Amino acid sequence: MRRPGKINWQRYPQFIIFATVFLYPCWLFAGQDGRTMQVGNIRIQYDLTEEENALKVASILQTVLPRMEQFYSTDLPRGVRIVIVSDEEMFFTIIGHRLPAWVGAVYIPDQKTILLKSPRWKGTLFDMRKSLVHELSHAYFHERFSRQSLPLWFNEGLAELISEGGISMDAGIELAKAIWFRHLVSLADIDSLFQFSAPRAQLAYIESLSAMVFIQEQLPNGDSWPDFLSHVATFGLENTLKNRFGWDLIDFEIKWYNWLRHKYRWFILLNFDYFIWLLLIVIFMLAVVRRYLMNRKRLRQWEREEQWLFGDSEYYPNDPEGFDKR
Ligand SMILES: [Zn+2]
Repeated sequence: MRRPGKINWQRYPQFIIFATVFLYPCWLFAGQDGRTMQVGNIRIQYDLTEEENALKVASILQTVLPRMEQFYSTDLPRGVRIVIVSDEEMFFTIIGHRLPAWVGAVYIPDQKTILLKSPRWKGTLFDMRKSLVHELSHAYFHERFSRQSLPLWFNEGLAELISEGGISMDAGIELAKAIWFRHLVSLADIDSLFQFSAPRAQLAYIESLSAMVFIQEQLPNGDSWPDFLSHVATFGLENTLKNRFGWDLIDFEIKWYNWLRHKYRWFILLNFDYFIWLLLIVIFMLAVVRRYLMNRKRLRQWEREEQWLFGDSEYYPNDPEGFDKR
């Protein structure tokens, strides 16, 4: 499963206080026991056993950082670090057990730290790459928009856009199911992502991504994300939407919803699981109808046989003058 696994900690100050006071020493201890590697302004902190993964993270950073800098038109300050966590116990010691189990990678703005699960115990290298890019996006977002109060769907949507690139077929099917069964999450509700179950959180991530794809489709030729984000950094999201497209946030949500419905509801046809279930239900119903018709036919036949044997049959009617009058 793709993330659930990403959370933006700037919305949970109580955890940041808890992490600073109680968990930071434990974290430092973990660092002293391991090694570090520097890539640009980012320090990678890892266990001896994670050397290979640390090298992979360094290699990913070298490719991704210039792209991120261009996208967000900003650089990361010194002191940002990535901790590769080797086991589940350490991960949950750091983030706490009161968080949903689906939490994967984490960015903690106060510590300028990304916690990354090692593929040695969770997921694959590919998952680690996507998680890293997603959390890096949060780090850049925080740096770029630290003075703005922006909705979580916008933050998560950009992180998903950069790490996923676009809406996959599976994601499209999830959107179609949510459209047909009317359980789309409203953009405002995505602010409560932290309290969602794993499937609802996954849908919220896909919807956030789709909102970004929708904005991308509205950007005129020659315009680009860096220009759009510069406007957001200066004027805020709502004013940018108004200036660029003439919409307030409610207009935006209505337009996005209509676009989503028009573009993705037909993805339900690609949901083979749905069709297998549908086929099984149809076969079951046909079997029930066939059995009912056969039973009815058999009953009629018995009725006819009874009438033939005991009279009152339309085929062997009682003849008032006949032998059946005895
Ligand atoms: Zn996230």
